Amino acid sequence: MTTSIIGYPRIGGERELKFWTEAYFKNKISQEELLKNVATLRLKNWKKEQSSGLDFIPSNDFSFYDTVLDTAVLLNVIPKRFRDLELDALDTYFALAKGYQGEAGDVKALPMKKWFNTNYHYLVPEIEDNTTFALKGSKIIDEFLEAKEAGISTKPVLVGPFTFLKLASYETKEAKDFANDIANVYVKILQTLEKNKVAWIELDEPALVKDLTEEDITLFKKIYSVILSNKGSLKVLLQTYFGDVRDIYQELIALDFDGLGLDFIEGKQSFDLVKKFGFPEDKVLFAGLVNGKNIWKNDYEKTLSKVAELEQSVSKIVLSSSCSLLHVPVSLEKEDKLTDDIKENFAFAKEKLQELQDLDELITLQNPADSSVLKDNQKIHQNLKRSVDEKVKTRINALTKEDTIRQPARAERFKIQQDYLKLPILPTTTIGSFPQTAEVRQNRKKYRTGEISKEDYGAHLKEDFQEVIRLQENLGFDVLVHGEFERNDMVEYFGENLKGYVFTRFAWVQSYGTRCVKPPIIFADVSRERPITVETSAYARSLTEKPMKAMLTGPITILNWSFPREDIDLQTQSTQIALAIRDEVLDLEAAGLPIIQIDEAALREKLPLRKTDWYSEYLEWAIPTFRLSHSAVKATTQIHTHMCYSEFEDIIRAIDDLDADVISFEASRSSLEILDSLQAEHFETAVGPGVYDIHSPRVPSVEEIENVIHRILKKIPLEKVWINPDCGLKTRRNEETVASLKNLIEATTNVRKKL
Ligand code: GLN
Ligand code: ZN
Repeated sequence: MTTSIIGYPRIGGERELKFWTEAYFKNKISQEELLKNVATLRLKNWKKEQSSGLDFIPSNDFSFYDTVLDTAVLLNVIPKRFRDLELDALDTYFALAKGYQGEAGDVKALPMKKWFNTNYHYLVPEIEDNTTFALKGSKIIDEFLEAKEAGISTKPVLVGPFTFLKLASYETKEAKDFANDIANVYVKILQTLEKNKVAWIELDEPALVKDLTEEDITLFKKIYSVILSNKGSLKVLLQTYFGDVRDIYQELIALDFDGLGLDFIEGKQSFDLVKKFGFPEDKVLFAGLVNGKNIWKNDYEKTLSKVAELEQSVSKIVLSSSCSLLHVPVSLEKEDKLTDDIKENFAFAKEKLQELQDLDELITLQNPADSSVLKDNQKIHQNLKRSVDEKVKTRINALTKEDTIRQPARAERFKIQQDYLKLPILPTTTIGSFPQTAEVRQNRKKYRTGEISKEDYGAHLKEDFQEVIRLQENLGFDVLVHGEFERNDMVEYFGENLKGYVFTRFAWVQSYGTRCVKPPIIFADVSRERPITVETSAYARSLTEKPMKAMLTGPITILNWSFPREDIDLQTQSTQIALAIRDEVLDLEAAGLPIIQIDEAALREKLPLRKTDWYSEYLEWAIPTFRLSHSAVKATTQIHTHMCYSEFEDIIRAIDDLDADVISFEASRSSLEILDSLQAEHFETAVGPGVYDIHSPRVPSVEEIENVIHRILKKIPLEKVWINPDCGLKTRRNEETVASLKNLIEATTNVRKKL
């Protein structure tokens, strides 16, 4: 047996890549320096992989921004607007990633989307009708040679042609029109690699784990029949991950691949497929048995028995990670704040390399049971005693369907709340956070490091709340917020205040570009020990006569942006969180908050990759879980929710089923297309489609916002419309925020007058 991984985190243990590229953007270091720096990072990673005994060391898994973008550049898929800038290669690359505004011109970046079911984002290649596929870049070969120079032979990794075409966007042509062109370029790539004595290439085709149509399968076969008949002596590994390949397994084993990579962690049917249809003797199975997405230590005993099971049908097995290790943090080494009994249960990327080596050794032993490596691993799993929260358990057992149904029905609540809240038509509000200025962040840091006392920090916060409330009153907002100045991040903040969570210091995971997130870890049963936001929201409420809205993060989003447990299911974990949020909601209501917003920014993230599983595996429990968090409030209390993306045309019914009274969402960037679907589906929840894009520092004009409101009113009944920006204002600066909000209020006033 030998070992392989699909990719390694490229950000660096100290997020070096982020700091270097940012320094380059600010002209603080030269391009030469940047290139030199990243080469040291690559070498460090390869050496680490080599010294841990990894047999298939990946190359070309490094990226300045995103590997789909790297592939687009390699294949010459560069839209005209970027070519016209005539920048050098690296700056063209960054222009594609981030947009460009300068002497050479003004162009918007490529759109960004979530990479399958992860919180990593890829850049969407734009294939224009006259795009000519050609082998343009040389990154894949350069990095192979770079490693070779250092005495390390690697397996170049590349996004496969089918996945590339499936993820791209098009003008009038479609994927199949480019099948031959792309296949020919991949042949060229393979030939170049072969000439340079590459032994194996890995082509990543995660798009194969989604629902495939007959046309998809035809397209796949068409492309690969060209590639495989020209591969020469180069060995081709077809790698899949994030699920199983049930729609195309038989075709895959019949094709002339040398290796097939399957995910046995997320691929529910992977074992069955291998058993039922067999596995050809001349191929190598790269068995993804070490979880690349979660941070728990591998259970060696279980993995060994899985390998034994596979060995009954497969003669050549390579042990692999289930997906790229990009999705877990770099290393546990620096986590000095975690106690050993907690830390020993985790494996980040570096530790997963060790796991692969351990497993590889154990497999060759006659009696693995005698091995201390196995015994130590067993001990860790046996020692893991998570405190069971009996109270939470009892509460969950006692839940009935009624607990997830709010009474009275929404239509009736609508009238009651209109009488109670007495809001004007087109009520105005914001999503919750206001600009987190340098001062706000500094105060929080000082408090964390003990430089200022709790009292001092509290006093600073109170000033910030007072100021932001005055500001909203002066601008003329109808529903006010406290500004969320006390929160670092919408999930980390709640995680830190919930029992059962564990926090890391450096466990960064790439989210988009060089931006990273630090997901908290659910370690034990989650519960709320004390009110979290009540004091702050009640204080804010006391400062104004206007209705105050309290903001919370919803149970699904908290779950989806954490590393979850694996010993109990996601539904149970989110139900535990929902109960904590439910208690918080009721406390806020008791403290006199008339409106409570429960954000579900990440509801879409864990939607299964196969549409057929959407309800049965996810929405069927995710929706009631959200409802559980708010169903106990009085009819007069208005429940809002907020979602950060505009892509929910296909789950509109599910979102209406959340049974919130009001929802706000991002709409301005997607040019309000969603309004048609809301109208067609008779969406019942009142809506605040964001009237301007907060992701840009641009200040929208009054006229522009008025036009947006008129467009909204054409599709949504007047009494159901709210006016708000499309997301929280935390990342913006004060100047542009105040100017934009002023225009928002003026536009609303103008429209009201004309009604
Ligand atoms: N209430 C949060 C805020 O205003 C929502 C953030 C989000 O949707 N990402 O910042
Ligand atoms: Zn948002």
